[in-house]
Amino acid sequence: MDDRPYDLLVIGGGINGAGIARDAAGRGLSVLLVERDDLAAHTSSQSTKLIHGGLRYLEYYEFRLVAESLAEREVLLQAAPHLVEPLAFVLPHEPHLRPAWMIRAGLFLYDRLGGKMTLPKSFGVRLAGSRWGAGLKQGFRRGFVYADARVDDARLVIINAVDAQALGARVRVRTRLVRARRVEGVWRATLQTDDGKSEEVVARALVNAGGPWVKDVLNSVTTEPMQANVRHVKGSHIVVPQVHAEAHAYILQNADNRIVFVIPYEERYSLIGTTDVPVDEYQHPGIADDEIDYLLDLVNGYLERRLGRADIVWTYSGVRPLFDDGSQDPSAVTRDYVLKIDAEYGPPGRAPVLSIFGGKITTYRKLAEQALADLAPFFPGMKPAWTRGAPLPGGEMPRDRNAFFARLCAQYPGMPADLLRALARRHGNVATRLLGDAKTPADLGPNFGAQLTAREVDHFVVNEWARTADDVLWRRTKCGLSMSADERARVAEYVAVRVGAGVHQ
Ligand SMILES: Cc1cc2nc3c(=O)[nH]c(=O)nc-3n(C[C@H](O)[C@H](O)[C@H](O)COP(=O)(O)OP(=O)(O)OC[C@H]3O[C@@H](n4cnc5c(N)ncnc54)[C@H](O)[C@@H]3O)c2cc1C
Repeated sequence: MDDRPYDLLVIGGGINGAGIARDAAGRGLSVLLVERDDLAAHTSSQSTKLIHGGLRYLEYYEFRLVAESLAEREVLLQAAPHLVEPLAFVLPHEPHLRPAWMIRAGLFLYDRLGGKMTLPKSFGVRLAGSRWGAGLKQGFRRGFVYADARVDDARLVIINAVDAQALGARVRVRTRLVRARRVEGVWRATLQTDDGKSEEVVARALVNAGGPWVKDVLNSVTTEPMQANVRHVKGSHIVVPQVHAEAHAYILQNADNRIVFVIPYEERYSLIGTTDVPVDEYQHPGIADDEIDYLLDLVNGYLERRLGRADIVWTYSGVRPLFDDGSQDPSAVTRDYVLKIDAEYGPPGRAPVLSIFGGKITTYRKLAEQALADLAPFFPGMKPAWTRGAPLPGGEMPRDRNAFFARLCAQYPGMPADLLRALARRHGNVATRLLGDAKTPADLGPNFGAQLTAREVDHFVVNEWARTADDVLWRRTKCGLSMSADERARVAEYVAVRVGAGVHQ
């Protein structure tokens, strides 16, 4: 029984729940975050992994969203340079799909809408015979290059939760909100852990960050049927061995007006996606055969080396919980977010519930600020916004990753460069805390493969809420991609022993 009354009970440990928990804890609120699975187990680890303005949203006149996203791109590049990295995108010119003037006009806006930027401005390039056309068919002669950024989406969630906890929030995984009722001006919420135990907690306000389950969560806290609607649009990705050795990504146009990205991924792979498939209610989002065909057909129209099903090494799919703005076309439904606060009990009443519809990884920090601005009337003593300019855990390092990596190599000359690179990318400056006084790889315990050591797995279990092999292999890292089945099984055994020993939080 947790008999402490909390200010905020946040339901959902995706990027939005974790971001709100962090922001609220830093403003002095007492916060409990509950996630029924693992942190980032759903949409927030299944994205295209871009911190971007969204060039294509300009076609839908989403200027507010694009401007805010571009400005946030700049904020996140500073706050978490280990996880958010600039990336050049090449758009091969296809005059019959979009004329050059239209693309130039879009890029002109894209370069400017976010205000002052540190990333380079867009420019035109020759593709044939140049590195900008690497891996493409010879027929593509000209293109455009613009800057955006990519992110390790799952790790971004985790470091937000880590920071929330450091600021006093309590984070509980494998804990589901079953129901909540208003009793005498506060929420009494029933939680259930994955071993079947139930308990009740008290909170002054609820944040419903249930992602695709936002409606289900709201239905479990009110007796009124929910009015606002959420649209579920599935998006799938395939991962193949890298299609070219250059550092840039491609943004490829399709005749159906959609675009698909081909992004360098985890050093040796290319990530290809995504699709837009409306689904009625939330279903297990595995990739369908026709989505694979769609992605392969599209990229094979551009790539020199034909890709087939046998090239696919991994797939994943997620469901976008979009706010229903009435659009017919699933690609056109707004990617902007809408926050709804239960008005019936709004100020001067008590026990509000704030629900989140839509949004992007890119805008999570602004969304959290907006959520807390909406909740401010209920917490008059709450401190002001603070997250803009505040580094995330691991992010106190130079923005130039190479400089940081060189420093780490100098500090740990007995460690292989690949291992240090993997740690630097995942942990930023927390890597030095993790390495401590280790001098050689042997000091880090068994190496399970793909540069994953027992020391790092312990860190995930003790400090980052990992409970299963999947938590480690597919969310805290992507080592699962490069490991054999035997190696993955060894990780599973090790995690089970450590969790069994009770070292986890
Ligand atoms: C295919 C695809 C591509 C995308 N690409 C990008 C991109 O490149 N860039 C970008 O910025 N955005 C992108 N997005 C959007 C972005 O991923 C989502 O907007 C974001 O991850 C939503 O986060 P969330 O926290 O709202 O939801 P989620 O990450 O789904 O988190 C909700 C959590 O709530 C938990 N939960 C639900 N019910 C309960 C309960 N009763 N008790 C406890 N916990 C509960 C769930 O287990 C879940 O973990 C993409 C989305 C998709 C699907």
